[in-house]
Amino acid sequence: MKIGFIGLGNMGGPMARNLASAGHEVQGFDPAATYPEGITPCTSAPEAAADAEVVITMLPNGAILRDVAAQVIPAMATGSVLLDCSTVDVDTAREVARQAKAAGLEALDAPVSGGVGGAAAGTLTFMVGGPESAFGKARPLFEIMGQKTVHCGDAGAGQAAKICNNMILGVTMIATCEAFALADKLGLDRARLFDVVSTSSGSSWSMNTYCPAPGVGPTSPADKGYRPGFAAELMLKDLRLSQQAAESADADTPMGQLATALYEQFVEREDGRGKDFSAMLPRLEQRKRASP
Ligand code: NAD
Repeated sequence: MKIGFIGLGNMGGPMARNLASAGHEVQGFDPAATYPEGITPCTSAPEAAADAEVVITMLPNGAILRDVAAQVIPAMATGSVLLDCSTVDVDTAREVARQAKAAGLEALDAPVSGGVGGAAAGTLTFMVGGPESAFGKARPLFEIMGQKTVHCGDAGAGQAAKICNNMILGVTMIATCEAFALADKLGLDRARLFDVVSTSSGSSWSMNTYCPAPGVGPTSPADKGYRPGFAAELMLKDLRLSQQAAESADADTPMGQLATALYEQFVEREDGRGKDFSAMLPRLEQRKRASP
């Protein structure tokens, strides 16, 4: 397949490389990144998009996606697929899909989970919104870049699934960290707490797989000085998107709102930026009940 790939950063670079290694013809554009081996460099986004059967975007945010989509949609061949893998707000995903459809194209929103490691290993999970026919065309590419793909519904459904998942993740990570900090003050050994909770009704991915306490449970960023992993500022980005969507859909999400405020404080006013999002535990263990 001839593929245009726009945005070759930490995630897009290895994803594009995997597509090229699988034998696809990949032409790429990124004003800043170095081009991975096997990718034909282009001088603009429209040049990378022209003649491609599928154009993939992997960009930092919704504003940049809107800008790039406005450039590439007029350059794309009728019937081709615009496949956005960035994490952006639901409204932007729907708007880009509307513009693509009006231009005789098909669009999919397909955000990922699995991080940089998953992008390099080709083991990402894709959550996809958009028409069945476009999903069928892109399916072989998902199978190269990932190990699991769920077609979640119409335009925007992939982004909706991603932010709902990450809102649960942000909330459960804070709850897990709070429990360890409380256990410390109650004189309860962390390893014992892990043994109980990981096999009880308080269990979650945050506790069982990504335990925020160093030396407890399976190896996680906590065991590597809280080097990310999944950086606190990326969690904040996703939590903000969840609250933007909740605002737009008039949904009551009190825990998501509180988790957003806590990660905002951690990243923007404390020393959380650049640390793994599970570093909420050392933050909480230093605090006293009365502090704000
Ligand atoms: P990144 O900053 O490493 O890469 C983004 C790339 O987009 C950069 O190389 C940048 O130069 C390029 N870019 C910016 N404007 C452009 C334009 N107008 N045209 C072409 N290229 C442009 O970010 P990343 O970590 O690769 O993340 C990309 C997306 O994936 C984000 O939406 C992020 O939320 C999401 N995501 C990241 C992770 C992760 O662990 N890094 C995990 C899941 C999802």
